[in-house]
Amino acid sequence: MTRISFAKQLICIAFTLSSPLLQAALPEHRPVPGGVAIIDLGSSEQPAPRAFLGEQGLAVIAESGRWHALVGIPLDTPPGTQAIRVETGSGTAALEFTVAPWAYGEQRLRLRNRRQVEPTPEDLRRIEREQAHTAAIKASFSAATPDSDFARPSQGRLSSRFGLRRFFNGQSRLPHSGLDFAAPAGSPVLAPAAGSVVDTGDYFFNGNTVFLDHGQGLISAYMHLSRIDVAVGQRVERGERLGAVGTSGRATGPHLHWTVILNATPVDPLLFLSRP
Ligand code: ZN
Repeated sequence: MTRISFAKQLICIAFTLSSPLLQAALPEHRPVPGGVAIIDLGSSEQPAPRAFLGEQGLAVIAESGRWHALVGIPLDTPPGTQAIRVETGSGTAALEFTVAPWAYGEQRLRLRNRRQVEPTPEDLRRIEREQAHTAAIKASFSAATPDSDFARPSQGRLSSRFGLRRFFNGQSRLPHSGLDFAAPAGSPVLAPAAGSVVDTGDYFFNGNTVFLDHGQGLISAYMHLSRIDVAVGQRVERGERLGAVGTSGRATGPHLHWTVILNATPVDPLLFLSRP
């Protein structure tokens, strides 16, 4: 063993020993539309403050002796100053942060199933019902302290990034709300961190879907599955199998679409995977 690798080992041991005190690893701070702002709320020796963006509660996590609010920034937020509201035992304060511009690319996709581009009136009623149902799940806020230290949910290659402006058969549609992993149909989809299964279903666009609640508005979703292996109410640990990759819903080939939500806002999942 060389001296350098021994030193590296010591650093690893030190990190492992200190990690229980850190409680959770934070995502990358990237205050842009579709990104995450990490806002320092003071010493974690004080009781946990509560924080809000508008009326939506924010995840508040202790790391390195400080409380931090995790703010999901909606993709349509204009660059400029935004503010969160922070409530402590001694009162309420506004904390400002700056949203910087960010350029996302675009993606053009061709779908053979025309109904997935131009749904029938009956499809549209179904889509509306499903959107109301999933909007309520995305906006839910449970008390558990979230584990935001995510592992990859699939070993597939990254095939489409978050935020791309999308055109299906030449028609403009909503930007890409997650990250795609291309993987063979049937390959495993794993929980990136501990959580509770709060919804499963077969949806018009998203196909077979699992929603995990990690706590305090940190929610993740797994879409286009060929199979669902968990049930609503089930508690899962990091690495536990949720289902298998498939092509259900609006998909051009087998892949996992992974959405990560903070304060009811889809954010770039890569920000949660940036650590080794
Ligand atoms: Zn996708």
